[in-house]
Amino acid sequence: MRHVDTWKDWQEAQPQVVPMLVASIQKNRLAHAYLFEGEAGSGKHEVALLMAKRFFCKEHNGAEPCHACSDCLRIEHGNHPDVHQVAPDGQSIKKEQIEYLQKEFTYRGMESAAKVYIVSHVDKMTASAANSLLKFLEEPQGQTLAILLTENGASILPTIRSRAQQMRFLPPSQTQIASKLVAEGIEENQALFLAALTGNKAYAKALAEGDWSFQARTVVLQLMHELFTRPDLAAITLADKWIPLMKERLQQEMGLEMMLLWLRDLLYIQAGKQDKLVYADNKSKFDELALSTSQHTIRAAMSHVLEAKRHLSANVSIQLVMERLLFTIQEG
Ligand SMILES: [Zn+2]
Repeated sequence: MRHVDTWKDWQEAQPQVVPMLVASIQKNRLAHAYLFEGEAGSGKHEVALLMAKRFFCKEHNGAEPCHACSDCLRIEHGNHPDVHQVAPDGQSIKKEQIEYLQKEFTYRGMESAAKVYIVSHVDKMTASAANSLLKFLEEPQGQTLAILLTENGASILPTIRSRAQQMRFLPPSQTQIASKLVAEGIEENQALFLAALTGNKAYAKALAEGDWSFQARTVVLQLMHELFTRPDLAAITLADKWIPLMKERLQQEMGLEMMLLWLRDLLYIQAGKQDKLVYADNKSKFDELALSTSQHTIRAAMSHVLEAKRHLSANVSIQLVMERLLFTIQEG
């Protein structure tokens, strides 16, 4: 089934930006240039496309475009003649790319006088491209809308910043990251886990490619459960599975982070917040453990894991760090 982004879809994720844009559209007071700042995955491009659709759609209902007319569909498929999208050609956005837009602009719309420009990674413009863009923004002719996108607002020239209406997008939530991963075919439990672990969609996606993260998740579930039920087995799981799997420093740090997420889940269960679980498929085991484990014990275990992270970054061997960690958690 085709999914279409609507204003409602982005309202929850961007509770500041979306109502402002919707209100401007409804009052017919759109600025002629916007600067969208925010992390990858925060919805800048989706919102820019929504604005472009609404800009051209004749069947719109309030701020919402119809998503079905030929303007809407062509924008969705990236082949609307009056919606121009510019992205870096290699490392940078070059002057010629902006000049091309200007030329297009002087010929006026192929279908109408209206045009929408969406420039991604606008911080990657060369100095001369930035100059061309500035001229462009200084002389708004006709009915145009320019939407500039950046993940790196600190690198935007003040002269460009001052000519565009600035909109700051909030970073994407773990739930948003997870649902995007699921949409790209990653299994739901794994998607939730990777989103919580990384807080970053691209990183989560990269981790999902191999089977390391899947194995690590399984081993952490086993190790932690044993630690709280059969500590004698935990020592074996540590030596036989955890240590061999966590070869690199980064993996070892992530392994400790996975343990923290597990402990936090146990706290969530005790607080009745089942919907927050990262290891949702482990709920029945958490339910049992939550009855026999005090909140004090869980919090103490979390601080031991944080201590282990510090030892690891002080170059203590992983073997020592982990043995000591299991021991201190058992001791409470
Ligand atoms: Zn439409």
